Amino acid sequence: MTKTNFFSFCQEKLITNKRFLVDLKQSREFSYADFLRITGSMATWLREQSFDNGDRVMVQVEKSAENLLWYFATLRAGLTYLPLNTAYQPDELSYFIANAKPSLIICDPIKIDLFKQLADCQIETLSAEGTFSQEIPETEEFQDVDVEKDDIAVILYTSGTTGKPKGAMISHANLISNSSSLSAAWDWQTDDVMLHALPIFHIHGLFIASHLAVMNSSTLLFLDKFSPQTVINNLPLATVYMGVPTNYTRLLADTAFNHDACRNMRLFTSGSAPLLTQTFAQMKSQTGFEIVERYGMTETGMNTSNPLRGSRKPGTVGLPLKGIEAKVVNDQGDRVTTNEPGNLLIRGSNVFRGYWQMPDKTAEDFTQDGFFKTGDIASIDSDGYVSIVGRNKDMVITGGLNVYPKEIESIIDNVPGVNESAVIGLPDSDFGEAVTAIVVTEDSATDEDDCKTVIADALASLASFKRPKQVHFVDELPRNTMGKVQKNVLREKYTDPSSS
Ligand code: AMP
Repeated sequence: MTKTNFFSFCQEKLITNKRFLVDLKQSREFSYADFLRITGSMATWLREQSFDNGDRVMVQVEKSAENLLWYFATLRAGLTYLPLNTAYQPDELSYFIANAKPSLIICDPIKIDLFKQLADCQIETLSAEGTFSQEIPETEEFQDVDVEKDDIAVILYTSGTTGKPKGAMISHANLISNSSSLSAAWDWQTDDVMLHALPIFHIHGLFIASHLAVMNSSTLLFLDKFSPQTVINNLPLATVYMGVPTNYTRLLADTAFNHDACRNMRLFTSGSAPLLTQTFAQMKSQTGFEIVERYGMTETGMNTSNPLRGSRKPGTVGLPLKGIEAKVVNDQGDRVTTNEPGNLLIRGSNVFRGYWQMPDKTAEDFTQDGFFKTGDIASIDSDGYVSIVGRNKDMVITGGLNVYPKEIESIIDNVPGVNESAVIGLPDSDFGEAVTAIVVTEDSATDEDDCKTVIADALASLASFKRPKQVHFVDELPRNTMGKVQKNVLREKYTDPSSS
């Protein structure tokens, strides 16, 4: 029988005597029997608070084993889990509380007074060490609450670089679809051991990394945060590692990240931001591994992945996962030709139920025939591999012509001495937007004028409207916690107020 509650779906296959989680910070272990017992007691406590199905449990705490256990307990109890990035400030929190109207908030003990000022619902605390503000009595086996497949398991706010963040409603069926397709694509094994160094307020760490382990009774080696040293030290105990591209560049900067450290590994994956082809190549020469790059987003979970067996093409995000339709269309909605960039649309049981209390925005983001408009610009090659060219809103329109930043960035990134780059459009009275490159060199001693000349030479074969009008040098690109370059921050920084 198909189980609708995502937790029940996972529980069917749980092997209780296997290790669920090894807490590397606090040197303790939880088996899957512990996992069932503790989440059952937590779920009992949640139901005793007289919450109803779908009530929101808002959580803003430091990463801990208990944090993850409360997530699974919320699903068991039929409530909706709503995690928040720990970096959010009072004004942002106030927006989320007004928008989501949670029934329960679980926060860090140091923020209790702040949350009491902002919200009038029940508030509990969970410390970084996992101590909860209430005693949770141990209970008999908990019967997972029955839910409909489209009931909302999780609301995740999108990062909202333009406008207010939107709450993406993710159903139990979405979670089942997502983890099943990835588990098959990456041939997940019960004996896999996942070194988990991602935050758990985002899909990457919360869904992908922890769901694959739980649905296969495999083990999480749990770090409270990423540090190259702890990852390298613990890699020999692991078989799988998932990271964002900046994790890999930081790991590769350490020569101890080598074949020997990776001796028991079978899979490295990357996502949430584009992986540079240089990073892919360096990883291969330094460790012997080809990173499996995949692509997804909060609203859809994972959509594509480079294959586990078969050719992994650097610079692409691979092929659509089983059951997921991906197509690239022009602004009129017609399919574009092979390798031509356009708007990427996705359809499948992985796609979310819409934005919380924003029916108009939801309707706007779906086509009549049920495809979700990802907002990403992509192309598909003759083998069906998808490449992400950039975000729709990051596309530069100069003199009425479209410039896809990735095309220019890939060329600049290959210039000797350049580490990475970001291409943005800045307001310009002549062109509407002027193509502008922000460049990070490998060495601060690099002569910037020389470097500009080499970049200009490298771009000489491109149409002139695509070539940057200006090149700026910086020490590093601004990134959010998931490693995404914040182009909005760069646009703000370099916009000349007199230019528009
Ligand atoms: P989020 O909802 O925070 O996970 O952000 C999703 C967005 O991250 C996508 O719409 C893409 O723009 C970007 N993204 C995720 N994975 C990749 C990837 N492998 N390559 C390029 N962009 C990616």
